[in-house]
Amino acid sequence: MDELSAQIRNCMYQYSRAIYRTIKDLIDPYADPDEQLEYRRAVLEACEDTMERLATDPHYFANPDKTLFQDIRRYFPITQQAQVAWAVQEGVGAAVAFVQTQIEAGAFDGGVARCRATTRKGKPCQRTPLPERDYCPSHQHLEHSKVAA
Ligand SMILES: [Zn+2]
Repeated sequence: MDELSAQIRNCMYQYSRAIYRTIKDLIDPYADPDEQLEYRRAVLEACEDTMERLATDPHYFANPDKTLFQDIRRYFPITQQAQVAWAVQEGVGAAVAFVQTQIEAGAFDGGVARCRATTRKGKPCQRTPLPERDYCPSHQHLEHSKVAA
């Protein structure tokens, strides 16, 4: 693992901690102490798994906030669900924004190669380039125009 991806992981860890700290005291207060401990561990693990997945595979993780909320909502009483949903949305949203800036800065280019084209929606193309090329099959004409120029 290079230094940059280690840094990204460290940042993601901070996000997962921040989410956990915000919601840990909302865990079902009527569960017995052993259960509460177990719930806390499960919530922390779910936060960390979400961030881990975001750090390693951000392109293919759709709706990470909804996924995390679905994973942990059962540990919270119904009266706290809105609070938990909000905290998860805010925390994961911040982490996603962070990962997005890292993607734009090229931090994820070292791993799996991505097509260099920009789609009509202005987002980077996520497809795999042709072998030893910078562009995917749909954008390969861009490579020719670059060579011609
Ligand atoms: Zn492409």
